[in-house]
Amino acid sequence: MMEQKSLPEVSTFNCIKCKSTSSISSGRMRCSCGGLFEVNHDWTLFTPRNDLKKYEHHPSGVWRFKPIIHPEFPENEIIMRGEGNTGLYNASQRILDYAGCKNLLFKHEGENPTGSFKDRGMTVGISEAKRLAMHTVVCASTGNTSASLAAYASYAGIKAVVILPEGKIAFGKLSQAVAYGAEVYTVKGTFDLALEYVLDLAKRDGRYLLNSINPWRIEGQKTIILELLENLTWQPPDWIVVPAGNLGNTSAFGKALKEAQELELIEEIPKLVAVQASGSDPFVKYWASGEYKPEYNPQTIATAINIGNPVSHSKAHEALRFTSGIATSVSDQSILDAKALIDGAGIGCEPASASTLAGIKKLVDEGNILPSENIVAVLTGHLLKDPQIIIDYHQNQLEGVKSTFINKIKRYEF
Ligand SMILES: *Cc1c(COP(=O)(O)O)cnc(C)c1O
Ligand SMILES: [Zn+2]
Repeated sequence: MMEQKSLPEVSTFNCIKCKSTSSISSGRMRCSCGGLFEVNHDWTLFTPRNDLKKYEHHPSGVWRFKPIIHPEFPENEIIMRGEGNTGLYNASQRILDYAGCKNLLFKHEGENPTGSFKDRGMTVGISEAKRLAMHTVVCASTGNTSASLAAYASYAGIKAVVILPEGKIAFGKLSQAVAYGAEVYTVKGTFDLALEYVLDLAKRDGRYLLNSINPWRIEGQKTIILELLENLTWQPPDWIVVPAGNLGNTSAFGKALKEAQELELIEEIPKLVAVQASGSDPFVKYWASGEYKPEYNPQTIATAINIGNPVSHSKAHEALRFTSGIATSVSDQSILDAKALIDGAGIGCEPASASTLAGIKKLVDEGNILPSENIVAVLTGHLLKDPQIIIDYHQNQLEGVKSTFINKIKRYEF
């Protein structure tokens, strides 16, 4: 056992399957029954709503919500890089015309320190790893988790080991993991295989798993929603739309909305939309049929959501049920067209993030979203994460993809 400092039991791990409770200091990631843990905060032991005022000017947009995220965590042991406080942007007229809606905002999580929302969960996860005196942190990744883990681990003085699916990582993300000093391994196969290896690796003593199985990642990612609601002066939109891969974010969004209602920060619950790529959509099929089956050969150009066996599918199902949400899938063609429009509006994002706009267009076309409703789409990653795909699209060099909104580089001729 590692040496641990004891904290009061305001926060506990609750198993989502057998409902048993465990201490947050056990360092375990899963219940003995195999179910995922969820952090539970006992709101009766303190007054989070009043305590929020105290943190209003915190330099981190995550720890600004400390009373709802990790109330008992010692302030001076926080590892942070100024994550959160991301911008909210109006869609251009061209985007509105494309999607067929009138009120659309983008919350840009690509503005986090390493360029994706993963930093919001990572600041909490790494702080916790340090508190538990872990010497190494590990993750499998489609790219952004490894970039974020590598940065936060090095900043905290902890060793990072990452396992990535070979050839399925955008170059910006791979470069970050290497540059920030993680030990990088690749495997031939999918992200899901890399995750299996990492689960095994994390069983060894002193190694701490920082995939989104880790419930602290989810706590940090809740702040995307809390910050958004605060930006909107606690007047929720009708819809919140998010790309869905391993489903950590969808789960975090559901938990944040549930807690915001419990704490009387909001009354109405916005409906969540989880968008997957059509070649990698086990959750959409699960939502439609009620029966969960992994996809063994997931295929999409949007590498961040190329995941066939999403670990948080049960939590995400509950999130959609609770918010009366929708799961939908979109083609790679529509993702890249949506991306070209978001990029061309001066906002920019990586491919997975653009699935939101493609999903909105589809749901408006189908009549599930009304044109007059208020929509917020979460752009999960920065445009520069995947520069190759931008050049390929605009040079009309992507096999099987039509460059609908092309901006071709031309040779200057006298
Ligand atoms: C990780 C990631 C996703 C998928 O999020 P999940 O929580 O795994 O569903 C989507 N977009 C980007 C850019 C990501 O990095
Ligand atoms: Zn259990």
